[in-house]
Amino acid sequence: METETDQLANLLRASAVAELEDVVDHLTIEHVVTVPLDNGRNHYESHDGLIVQLRRAITPDLGRGSGGSTGEPSVMDVDAAERYARIKINIIARLDSLPTLPIAGRLPFDREHPEQSLRQWRYAFLAYADITTDDIRDAVQQLHRMAGMIRDKFDPPRQRELVGIDCPVCGQAWWLDNRDRHNIVRRTALVITIRPGDLDESFAECTHCQATRDASEPRGYWRGERGLRELQWDIEQAADQHIDIGASS
Ligand SMILES: [Zn+2]
Repeated sequence: METETDQLANLLRASAVAELEDVVDHLTIEHVVTVPLDNGRNHYESHDGLIVQLRRAITPDLGRGSGGSTGEPSVMDVDAAERYARIKINIIARLDSLPTLPIAGRLPFDREHPEQSLRQWRYAFLAYADITTDDIRDAVQQLHRMAGMIRDKFDPPRQRELVGIDCPVCGQAWWLDNRDRHNIVRRTALVITIRPGDLDESFAECTHCQATRDASEPRGYWRGERGLRELQWDIEQAADQHIDIGASS
């Protein structure tokens, strides 16, 4: 018989799996993103997989306009090429780190379409019986960083400090960061990172919670539209006032 603890563990695992599937989809296939408009509403756009977008950015004059050669030399975006190379290395390492699976053997790396390899990695990784929920969460975090690295290329994130607002988790509005004894800094606790045009990848974090957190328990971290709304709600409940942190509609 399933206990409540088992049920909770199953729920947490299911949510980690869903998040892994989501971030891999964003990286690898056409997907819908939420775009906040100036009038406070959202609209929804279809975007190619991030890895495909990045590959296209390496040679910006290919696949644009006439398609035929105009005789002009193709200009390569070195920064995009470097980011792309790092992503390929990351995906190869993921394939290498899988145990040799009875179902698939060793997964080959698709040099032309590394995003396909990442999708195959996902299926194999999730099918592997020994992975823990923490393993899945770790992979989710790493893949969010990968997605962020691509998005930063096209649209650098904007950061905003929520000065004077207490973190609903630790209760601090600011703290003294003395991790470097020679450089003690006063930090605002709550910082929002907005990725323009993509609320799903926007997040808020408490720098104090993150600095002091127990690695097994993520806290002081709110991702995406739902997460930002939750934070806004928590802050408003605590302060009994309306604030706008960018997720309201
Ligand atoms: Zn905090």
